Amino acid sequence: MKKEPFVTLEQLKEIDRTYPTPYHLYDEKGIRENVRRLKDAFSWNKGFKEYFAVKATPNPFILNILKEYGCGCDCSSMTELMLSDALGFRENDIMFSSNDTPAEEFQFARKIGATINLDDITHIDFLEECAGIPETICCRYNPGGVFKISNDIMDNPGDAKYGFTTEQLFEGIRILKEKGVKNFGLHAFLASNTVTNDYYPLLAKVLFEVAVNLKQELGVHIGFINLSGGIGIPYRPDQEPNDIYRIAAGVKKVYDEILVPAGMDDVALYTELGRYMLGPYGCLVTKAIHEKHIHKEYVGCDACAVNLMRPAIYGAYHHITVMGKEHEPADHLYDITGSLCENNDKFAVDRMLPKIDVGDYLVIHDTGAHGFAMGYNYNGKLKSAELLLKEDGSVQMIRRAETAKDYFATFDYCDILKDMKWESL
Ligand SMILES: *Cc1c(COP(=O)(O)O)cnc(C)c1O
Repeated sequence: MKKEPFVTLEQLKEIDRTYPTPYHLYDEKGIRENVRRLKDAFSWNKGFKEYFAVKATPNPFILNILKEYGCGCDCSSMTELMLSDALGFRENDIMFSSNDTPAEEFQFARKIGATINLDDITHIDFLEECAGIPETICCRYNPGGVFKISNDIMDNPGDAKYGFTTEQLFEGIRILKEKGVKNFGLHAFLASNTVTNDYYPLLAKVLFEVAVNLKQELGVHIGFINLSGGIGIPYRPDQEPNDIYRIAAGVKKVYDEILVPAGMDDVALYTELGRYMLGPYGCLVTKAIHEKHIHKEYVGCDACAVNLMRPAIYGAYHHITVMGKEHEPADHLYDITGSLCENNDKFAVDRMLPKIDVGDYLVIHDTGAHGFAMGYNYNGKLKSAELLLKEDGSVQMIRRAETAKDYFATFDYCDILKDMKWESL
């Protein structure tokens, strides 16, 4: 499928008059249409709820858009809980799917009524001690082994640090029942960025079967099953996008086959999608500022891995459009680089693109999730702004760019930088 930006060159030139590159731009229209489709696809399940994985795009303006559609938040840290609480997400709106969790975070999660998704059997005692056991609790399951679709290995849960083993799950839930838990949830996240309609149905089958066994063996009430994240997006133009309607129909089929005959037709389904909700509806906009001709051809742009880390750390592919040259032949071989003193700071390696001139706008696609959020400050580089392209075509700044003052803010407790020329920053 041809990948096209959701913004035009004319719009970028207009935005440039107010907001300099680089910045992350989000597509309000795309976000809204996508969340409506998700809700519609799962509308057959009465209790269905998406808990957006806050870590993917922790921006309050974005969370508020999703909130309009009844989405909740999936958090895994103190600041994510604080953000969700501050935006008015309340009981049943916050899932706390953390691991290696500090006591204060369990305490705060309980205080704001978040649903705790326990990552480990030893956390039962830990939670009881630091925050008490709630009446509703979720347990994260890790069946181990490898997770396969036909002969394709999708991921390797046996290597993953998360969750209870099967034995621990039965034992843990028995203990939790004794400690007064009345309503249980089950959760598993077994493969990431899956570009296939089969992942959720297969995962659902694993969880539904365990849920039926838990109910039959322990007599517990399973109120919800959380399919978590993992639905992927087509980063590459040759990938076939997932079809959320087919995915939801596949889940319904196993629901009808496994849960309904076991008298569990009231189980609510939850999701914690991040990438699928936002990935395609964000892009990183950067400008070419240098060209360099040595052993290879390089184009240097004004963004760097600090703005988007995925290519540098995973070698991840992000499609790039040279704006205004969409119809020119891709007959130049480039490495597209940032300015970090790190040779892996490249948005693309050996990529065929139209001839790039200094001043050209490059749109780096699919940065709406796990893009800005993974940013860091290596080389003292500052994080960019985040902008929202609204449905009416106007642009709203939803996070300002970091300033040098922000960067140095953690020295504000002392006067070591008293000679800093703040005005020049
Ligand atoms: C990261 C994460 C998600 C979201 O994953 P995506 O790949 O963005 O869908 C959901 N749940 C948990 C517990 C996570 O850690």
